[in-house]
Amino acid sequence: MAKRDYYEVLGVDRSADADALKRAYRALALEFHPDRNPDDPAAEDKFKEASEAYAVLSDPDKRRTYDRFGFEGLGGQPGFDAGDFGAFGDVLNDLFGDLFGTRGGNGRRRGRGRRGADLRYTLEVELKELLQVRESTLQIPKMRPCGTCSGSGAKPGTRPESCSRCRGSGQLMFQQGFFRISRPCDACGGAGEIVKERCATCRGAGRIEGEQQLTVKVPAGVEHGTRLRLAGEGEAGIEGGPPGDLYVDIAVKPHPFFQRDATDLHCQVPIPFVHAALGGEVEVPTLDGKMTLRVPEGTQSGKTFKLAGKGLPQLGGRQRGDQIVQIFVEVPTKLTDRQRELLEEFAREGGTEVSPVSRSFVEKLKDLLG
Ligand SMILES: [Zn+2]
Ligand SMILES: [Zn+2]
Repeated sequence: MAKRDYYEVLGVDRSADADALKRAYRALALEFHPDRNPDDPAAEDKFKEASEAYAVLSDPDKRRTYDRFGFEGLGGQPGFDAGDFGAFGDVLNDLFGDLFGTRGGNGRRRGRGRRGADLRYTLEVELKELLQVRESTLQIPKMRPCGTCSGSGAKPGTRPESCSRCRGSGQLMFQQGFFRISRPCDACGGAGEIVKERCATCRGAGRIEGEQQLTVKVPAGVEHGTRLRLAGEGEAGIEGGPPGDLYVDIAVKPHPFFQRDATDLHCQVPIPFVHAALGGEVEVPTLDGKMTLRVPEGTQSGKTFKLAGKGLPQLGGRQRGDQIVQIFVEVPTKLTDRQRELLEEFAREGGTEVSPVSRSFVEKLKDLLG
């Protein structure tokens, strides 16, 4: 296939200045970068084509040569192997910072270094905080990319050099019988490049101890033990490797009053025995504040009442569960003389009459004992 003119590839005038070139290339690279177009060979070709055009035209010497002699003039110039993204890694970094993670490598591009460790963080939340989506700010102690060398591990002003043993490919090829076998280059550890002068700040590791502030969104109604994954927020990679991931485990703190059952909340509320007998109003705490519950006369200990919609929200939904209030009747432990007198009178007044509950209890006992 015939090569397209570099100016045509970038869609710029032959008189375009450095800024115009950069803008044109940036737009193309953003559109066709392989990380944004996984498994799309056409996009990858376009990206390589644009990268090659930009690499030549952004270099004043090469541009002059190309202007005068065309592609022929560039013959023998190194660095335009279309398969080699590494050659353009620095250009991309300059243009986009770490937008594509080119610095750390991402499995697609070979590179130096090892992946950083995954981190785990336990985030405690109160039951009440589950009512709404909540943003939590975390302070994570972790290995961060070294600011001096931007994580490369190379002394500022220097850059990792292409490995001479594997000529930068990171792989050594062997012929074994009919087979060609490749294995990682032992001189550079498969990275294809070697740091000659190490960064003094991080001693070549590309990372230093530090802390990072992060904001996580805790979904409403989340279950205790839920694990959130924050890709790339783990420890920085070693010697320019990719970062690990951060896992945030949600721990819902036990509540002194509520027990959770999925989206329902259970609680127990004491009422004085006079209240239970005569009926009345009782104050019940809910996650939204206090509510008044009407208890009918003759309420037995253990009876439950439902406060609809006072439970927890469904995960990702609006609907809330219920609050189940179980009543237990409190019997006074200390009586004044007058109270005792009144209760004795109450008992006499009732005579042998017993409540429906205890009557059925007595009946059951009769059945059982014959
Ligand atoms: Zn460093
Ligand atoms: Zn090597």
